[in-house]
Amino acid sequence: MTRRDDIHETGETSEFAALRLKARVIHNRLFMLYGEPRWTKLDGVSELVSTILSQNTNDGNRDLAYTRLRARFATWELVRDAPTDIVIDAIRPAGLANQKGPRIQAALQRITAEQGKLNIDFLADLPVEDGLAWLTSINGIGPKTASIVLLFCYDKPAFPVDTHIHRLTGRLGLIGPKVSADQAHDIMVKLCPDHQYGTFHINIIRHGREVCHARSPECERCPLQDVCVYFHYQYNGLSVPR
Ligand code: SF4
Repeated sequence: MTRRDDIHETGETSEFAALRLKARVIHNRLFMLYGEPRWTKLDGVSELVSTILSQNTNDGNRDLAYTRLRARFATWELVRDAPTDIVIDAIRPAGLANQKGPRIQAALQRITAEQGKLNIDFLADLPVEDGLAWLTSINGIGPKTASIVLLFCYDKPAFPVDTHIHRLTGRLGLIGPKVSADQAHDIMVKLCPDHQYGTFHINIIRHGREVCHARSPECERCPLQDVCVYFHYQYNGLSVPR
C-alpha cells in the first residue's frame, strides 16, 4: 500500500487515526483514575495576566503573586496605569518580576489601544486560529498562554502544552521525540477527543505530577504501560529514542 492509498476519506492517514484512538484510550484511563477536574473560570484579561505570572514558576507562587496584585490594585486599569516598580513589587513572588511587570502592563495597554477597553471577549467570536494569532502577537504571549486563555475562558478547541504535557505525550508516543512543546499544541488539538480539551489537559498534568515524574516515573503503578513507548523501551532493555 502506498502512502497515498493509506489516506482515508477524511484525509486522515491510518497512522494518525491510530494515534487518535490511542489518545482516546489514554484519556479514558486517566478519566477513570482522576475523574472530571474542576477549574475556576476567569474573565479573559484576568486569565491572561494570571498565565503571564505563571511563566517559569509553580502554581503556588503564581497564585500568591496574583492575589497580591489584585489586593494592591482594584482594577486592571489601575495596574495598567501604575508606576511599573509598584507592579513589579506586587508580583515578586512569581519570579522574573522585572520582565513580567512590564509585560503585563504592555499587554493591558495593547488591549486598551485596540479594543478601547480592557476586555478581550471578542475572542469568543473569532475562529481559534485567529484568536491564537492575535494573542501570540502580544509581546511575551506564546502558544501555551494563548491556548490557556482560549480554552479556559472561551471554550475554544485549543490544547496548551506545558512541560508535563510535553514530557508525557513524548513518552507515550503521541508526539515524536523531536517535536517541540510549541509544535505539540497543533498535534494535540488534532489528537484530543472532541470536547475533552480541558479535561484531558488537566488530567495529563496531574499524571505528570503524581506518577510520571520527570526524573523517576513510577511506571509500576501506571495504568498506561501498555500504550507507552517509553515503558516499552525500558521494559525491553532498549534505549529510549531521543
Ligand atoms: S508507563 Fe511510565 S513513562 Fe509511561 S506514562 Fe506511565 S509513568 Fe509515564
